[in-house]
Amino acid sequence: AGTYVVTGAASGIGHAVADRLRTDGHTVIGVDLRDAEIIADLSSASGRRDAVAAVLERSGGRLDGAVLAAGLGPAKGRERLIAEVNVLGVTDLLEGLRSALAAAGNAKVVVIGSNSTTTTPLVPRRAVRRLHDGDLDRAVRQIRRRIGLSAPVAYAASKLAVSMWCRERAVADEWAGAGIRLNVIAPGPVLTPLLRAQLDSSTGKQVRSFPVPIRQYGTPGQFADWIALMLSPSADFLVGGVITIDGGTDALLRPDAW
Ligand code: NAD
Repeated sequence: AGTYVVTGAASGIGHAVADRLRTDGHTVIGVDLRDAEIIADLSSASGRRDAVAAVLERSGGRLDGAVLAAGLGPAKGRERLIAEVNVLGVTDLLEGLRSALAAAGNAKVVVIGSNSTTTTPLVPRRAVRRLHDGDLDRAVRQIRRRIGLSAPVAYAASKLAVSMWCRERAVADEWAGAGIRLNVIAPGPVLTPLLRAQLDSSTGKQVRSFPVPIRQYGTPGQFADWIALMLSPSADFLVGGVITIDGGTDALLRPDAW
């Protein structure tokens, strides 16, 4: 049995993953705003620092894996918060936990991205680059210029930036060279409180019109199963992957790209 850190462990996909790992006999260190072993706010630099310190202390400096599931969905006016949590809430945490992951020898990391990265139009590439480089102020200013679209654009840009960061790190000496397998899972719509909030919001109609060829939403339990597989020895050869699991949307919109 191993020790795993799971951010966003209080709800949705993170909660389902934490349950699944515990059922399989592993130790889970959950990180969330509430209902978790470590209560931390990943939207601030000090919250992220405290979270890293608390995880290192609880784990004794050795982690078999990490699942970065804390995240915010698209909501107008929250562009800055989305960038903080969805990008820095992943990258700052992983930088801080890298040595503990390296200590395990063959650690696995799964970051939750999104198929919004390949299905959202009009995402300014420069904003993605700035998010990736940690220049949140300028990135958010540019995103807010997409009048009427700033929430979905902020969300997609945050997931693009974090996915790029993961693919670059995944193959670097300090990561792959240290036996750490870093991968991204990119879900389409999954029935969690995050999706329900969107369906119930003023943009609910747009969310419902998002084409999903299989005509159903994913469930947190399915994603717990996929992520458990990505943390298992079966995934020893999976490095820098972005695994899209979305009921067919990405294939529908981009049949020539994979
Ligand atoms: P959720 O809202 O059910 O769970 C997200 C968790 O993150 C919550 O427990 C929340 O408290 C935590 N969180 C949010 N802000 C935080 C902060 N500042 N500090 C610490 N914790 C914080 O959402 P979910 O649908 O399970 O989403 C999990 C991940 O999956 C997110 O990264 C989301 O972007 C991604 N995702 C979800 C969907 C979907 O349709 N549900 C689709 C694609 C990607």
